Amino acid sequence: MTGIVLSGGHVLTLNPQRDEYPGGYVAVDGSRITEAGPGPVPDRLAAARRVDARGCLVTPGLVNTHHHLYQWATRGRAADATLFGWLTELYPVWARLDADLVHAAATAGLAWLAKSGCTTTMDHHYLFPRRGGDVLGATVQSAAEVGLRFHPTRGSMDLGESSGGLPPDDVVEDLDAILAATQDAIERFHDPSPGSMLRIGVAPCSPFSVSRELLTESAKLARDSGVRLHTHLAETADEDDYCLEHFGRKPAEYLESLGWLGPDVWLAHAVHLDDEAVGRIAGSGTGVAHCPYSNARLGSGICRARALLDAGVPVGLGVDGAASSEASSLIGEVTNAALFARAAGGPRAMTVREAVELGTLGGARVLGREAEIGSLEPGKLADIALWRLDTLPHAGIADPVAALVLGPPPPLELLLVGGRTVVERDRVVTVDEQRAAESARRASLALAGRD
Ligand SMILES: [Zn+2]
Repeated sequence: MTGIVLSGGHVLTLNPQRDEYPGGYVAVDGSRITEAGPGPVPDRLAAARRVDARGCLVTPGLVNTHHHLYQWATRGRAADATLFGWLTELYPVWARLDADLVHAAATAGLAWLAKSGCTTTMDHHYLFPRRGGDVLGATVQSAAEVGLRFHPTRGSMDLGESSGGLPPDDVVEDLDAILAATQDAIERFHDPSPGSMLRIGVAPCSPFSVSRELLTESAKLARDSGVRLHTHLAETADEDDYCLEHFGRKPAEYLESLGWLGPDVWLAHAVHLDDEAVGRIAGSGTGVAHCPYSNARLGSGICRARALLDAGVPVGLGVDGAASSEASSLIGEVTNAALFARAAGGPRAMTVREAVELGTLGGARVLGREAEIGSLEPGKLADIALWRLDTLPHAGIADPVAALVLGPPPPLELLLVGGRTVVERDRVVTVDEQRAAESARRASLALAGRD
């Protein structure tokens, strides 16, 4: 064979035996992994291009299970607000988005995600201004340019202020328009084939911004089309009050009553859950996107990740939209997940290896891709991160997994997505980082200038 061999690094496979190979190797041919094992590299791989991974930790690429890429252009606003206050300040700004602004924001956001070890990301886009053009198509274009595996969801809101919802009326759409546009997005973009770089999901925004009918019809459309369902749930205590007042049920019970729990559904945040709600989510096979930074940034609370994991819930990590997650670092979320679990539940609440597992295999399960990504095993897609741990911030930490999780985000020596190089020596090679930064700066200024 030809291909690439990463040799001499500490390989964290996350295979079923959870094998680790200090000084091991990973071989890639085309878009897939062919071998992973302890060193030295076997003679049969002599013809492959060698990448010297000594001093590095080799992990599966990280999987981001919740994001709003457009928010890259509105970072740093409402810096000290609650979720509802933050939303109320930002909705009118977001109403001015268009496809060019979204493309600039998404390209910068995706390039930064790649630099934080992310190889697969979802996006939840729920704002479709009337004269905004093809904003969903803009995110798809950005992901193709940066080279990440992409799971965009066609989001929606149909419950404006005049109908008792939180968003102003001019950022919501009507039910029929949403369903037609969602069907169109699936037909234009969804690729169900093995190794797919793009899968669409359906994602009404949250219980306080969408109608009961939209939730019901969205679930039907998604299931008829064989795509996954996503929404925000139980992010804040305010939402509990809202759901009890408007629907007479708590958030998880409300979703369940609409057929909205199941193995094809994943929920962002899931912070405010009692034991009964954890049981409903676990029993239905529903996944959770845990977004620790955003929950802390907005003071929403700490997700009960330990309880969810113990109940058997698939849990992945998400950076959440950059307007409530200015760091937007996926490896940072691995660190946050471990620290927050311990802050809430004591020193044994989450090991460093469990935290990496949430960011990789856990995310793959949440997106329904665990057969293809999330671990370093023969036959899986070559989505691989190579973290440099022999420089100033990490040198001397004996356990490379502890160095990755408890130390600062390390330089990324190499990031492969389907065998293709996206980051090399801590620089994005698919798009020009500086140009992406400049476009994002101009997009932020444009949105601010039109206030
Ligand atoms: Zn969100």
